[in-house]
Amino acid sequence: MTVSFGGYLSTPADEKFPNWAEEVPKFLSGGSILATGMSKSYGDIASNAAGTIVSSLGLNRMISFDAELGVLVCEPGVLLHDIQETFVERGWMLPVTPGTSWITVAGAIANDVHGKDHHLAGTFGEHVLNLTVARSDGSLHFCSPSKNPELFRATIGGLGLTGFIVQATISLKPAAGPFFDTETIPFESLEDFFKLSQETDSQGWQASVGWFDCSTRKAGRGSFTRGNQSLDQLDLTEKKTRKSVNLPITPPFSLVNRVSLDLFNSAYFELQKSGAGKRRMHYQEFYYPLDGVKNWNRIYGPRGFFQYQSVIPMKTAQSATSEMLKVIRKSGQGSFLAVLKTFADREPAGLLSFARHGVTLALDFPNRGESTLALMESLDRIVAEAGGALNPSKDARMSRSMFKAGFPELPRFLLQRDPAFASDFSRRVID
Ligand SMILES: Cc1cc2nc3c(=O)[nH]c(=O)nc-3n(C[C@H](O)[C@H](O)[C@H](O)COP(=O)(O)OP(=O)(O)OC[C@H]3O[C@@H](n4cnc5c(N)ncnc54)[C@H](O)[C@@H]3O)c2cc1C
Repeated sequence: MTVSFGGYLSTPADEKFPNWAEEVPKFLSGGSILATGMSKSYGDIASNAAGTIVSSLGLNRMISFDAELGVLVCEPGVLLHDIQETFVERGWMLPVTPGTSWITVAGAIANDVHGKDHHLAGTFGEHVLNLTVARSDGSLHFCSPSKNPELFRATIGGLGLTGFIVQATISLKPAAGPFFDTETIPFESLEDFFKLSQETDSQGWQASVGWFDCSTRKAGRGSFTRGNQSLDQLDLTEKKTRKSVNLPITPPFSLVNRVSLDLFNSAYFELQKSGAGKRRMHYQEFYYPLDGVKNWNRIYGPRGFFQYQSVIPMKTAQSATSEMLKVIRKSGQGSFLAVLKTFADREPAGLLSFARHGVTLALDFPNRGESTLALMESLDRIVAEAGGALNPSKDARMSRSMFKAGFPELPRFLLQRDPAFASDFSRRVID
């Protein structure tokens, strides 16, 4: 059985765990196939109830590293966590990383993930130099921006539907060391967030992210954190090992309700306010604050939760975001973590890449059945009217029309799709 990060359950007919790249082709014939990584996608994109799951996790070797150019050749199941741990002390770091390091290189490619520095670095796919993809007809395809460019652009952000990535070459960026000089600024309204975000990009900060309170009482206030790699790094031999806490079991009911949401959001806001100002942070704390609490998703109980991540074009972003906040406030369903980021005006790396010029808002809603689905449908209407799109890697319920409207390169992508590859997501919105 596969369980996604949001608690979406799916039972494939069969699960395969190749340990060597050479074994992969024999698992790709017949039926409906899907490659998987760490299953850290929130919904049904890494599930395949109607067929076979072929895991990347046994293919986790780093094959070579060019220490002059920072170019890493690796297998698909290498974890971003292991890349950071191995290379930061050697002066290299991932140029783009999402909010968790516990994902695979192939998962990062297939969802063309973004981080806190889109204006400078774009998405993960922009740093992929080439890929080798195994297809269900037994063929192996090397692809890059100049060789098989359509397959390359379809595989980046390709939702695992173009074949099994058996090898990837990615470039890392030079890193002075593991520390960031950061600044945290509390804000009181959405307008303040937009001002801070603009100011931060124009001042050339390397990375930024905003958290805001969208619980029922003080929707709109929040805190904004920005950071640059520290130029004077501390002693690198002083290796920081972060202690993490663990939620050992899934409670029989969700610990997230209207009261706890309100309390959490208020407490988090006060905590951010008291810790506001400048501070040096280790990259683990700066990039991956949630990795400090293992299995935090279990607080939602057995019914799980939905993440709802939209991107809205710049010109309609402020009005649409404030409209969404109003609808959420009215519904009384709040969100435990609400994260706002801006995406710069860059050419998307993949045909189906989610990140595009605009403002992205990510919200977590406990699954309360019909009322939560109805809330998200109301949000869909605002996103669609504003010309926005939803992130497939977070989704478990968007409609076909919403997906098609948000991803206009779909017909071009489908020309590169491997006919044997499918997921619960693709059956729901594409097939
Ligand atoms: C706490 C948390 C924070 C996050 N923050 C961010 C963020 O800031 N930005 C962001 O963009 N995302 C974010 N995500 C989402 C996450 O980065 C993506 O869902 C990522 O794709 C998960 O990778 P995975 O290894 O778990 O892959 P899975 O979830 O197992 O699979 C993801 C996709 O990769 C495909 N795939 C896996 N292996 C292969 C292969 N060998 N060949 C071809 N396709 C393959 C699968 O078919 C599937 O379509 C976050 C997730 C969590 C849990």
